[in-house]
Amino acid sequence: MARIVIAGSGFGGLTAALQLKKRLKNSNHRITVLAKDNQFVYRPSLVLVAFGKKSPKSITFNLETLYAKSGIEFLPTTIESFDVEAKAVNTKTGPVFYDKLIVALGEKLQYEEIPGLREYGYNVCSIEGALALRSALEHFDGGPIVVGWSQFVQTGGPAFEVALELEEWLKRHDLPGSIQFIDPLPKLWAPAGPEATEFLTALFAERKISRMGPVQVKEVKADRVILKDGTELPSKLTILTPPFRGEDAQSSLANGHSRDWLETGKDMRSVHYPDIYVVGSAVAFEGPKQAHTAMLQAETAAHNLSLEVNQSSAPRKEYDHEMSCVLDLGNGQGLFVRRSLWNDQHQVVRTGRRWPMAKSALAYSFVHTPIFKKWGVPMSKINP
Ligand SMILES: Cc1cc2nc3c(=O)[nH]c(=O)nc-3n(C[C@H](O)[C@H](O)[C@H](O)COP(=O)(O)OP(=O)(O)OC[C@H]3O[C@@H](n4cnc5c(N)ncnc54)[C@H](O)[C@@H]3O)c2cc1C
Repeated sequence: MARIVIAGSGFGGLTAALQLKKRLKNSNHRITVLAKDNQFVYRPSLVLVAFGKKSPKSITFNLETLYAKSGIEFLPTTIESFDVEAKAVNTKTGPVFYDKLIVALGEKLQYEEIPGLREYGYNVCSIEGALALRSALEHFDGGPIVVGWSQFVQTGGPAFEVALELEEWLKRHDLPGSIQFIDPLPKLWAPAGPEATEFLTALFAERKISRMGPVQVKEVKADRVILKDGTELPSKLTILTPPFRGEDAQSSLANGHSRDWLETGKDMRSVHYPDIYVVGSAVAFEGPKQAHTAMLQAETAAHNLSLEVNQSSAPRKEYDHEMSCVLDLGNGQGLFVRRSLWNDQHQVVRTGRRWPMAKSALAYSFVHTPIFKKWGVPMSKINP
């Protein structure tokens, strides 16, 4: 019997646990999930919470209940470090020993790298963040707004949606204001490819959202954002995703990586520790960190790990880095982009009314139906 421990239960950890359980159903291997929160938050819907279109309750579910039903052991606790010699995860409640480990701790928001960002900036990365922005919007009486993401952020989509929602909010509430979008990329949404860049650039121009980039943020004050080149952008409302880095708990596994991300091969196994797999934002891949990528990586890791513990010689899987995203553009319109990031295999860009509906249906089925939770339908089988 192998003791398989999964550290983290976001999109990556949850998918890995459900996929492993499915693959190992007739064995006595033990799967234990450790996570500090016992609520799962469907983060793609957080923008809607910030703009009052969804409640926090409607985008969350209880992990304890889900794992109890799935026959997976769940331990809500904070992970402090990993001990690869002892093969133990050190938690606040004591060590948990493993034979195989999947690390899926997501990203840490590193506010400290930008003075003033925690005090004067808003973001939609958590329920608390989305609710704080909601309250700020309710008190906002107009003026310049800065929205975007800081250096080292690898999830851009939500900031575009925030900018577009804001533009509608100002109109709906008849508020004076200008929206300045900032980001660190050479071109607007560069990873999504030239067609998507062109589309979004034209849309921003049409909606009078001006974009400045590539820029790096130095400091945020109550009334402005100061960039590293000295430019000062007046701002009465600043909504900026803080820089990302790996969680502190995983730094001992990072082998000196400058942002504490963990290096893996395409099979999602750590290049330094053969008994450890890594999935989701914790992985050191360049390019977008998404729920989509986290789930595809988790499927790959679950496949390969289950072969290992069952000592099977069946072929291992390799993850193929691709982004897939629907941006809600407002007015019932959406932009869908799916693109290979390691090769030119495919690029799909579509617009229209069906995309926000598809996004909303996916969110609903993920949170409220058994499609992913009980049946464990893999993301790689969902093809819009
Ligand atoms: C507003 C917003 C909108 C988004 N929209 C989309 C979208 O439309 N499509 C898309 O594909 N992606 C989207 N994303 C990105 C997506 O949400 C992330 O890429 C995804 O959540 C990463 O999954 P993960 O499993 O790596 O990490 P997470 O989902 O962050 O999960 C991390 C897990 O680790 C646990 N954890 C962390 N540290 C510790 C610790 N020390 N001890 C114990 N447990 C710990 C947490 O409790 C959690 O269970 C969006 C993100 C945001 C913020």
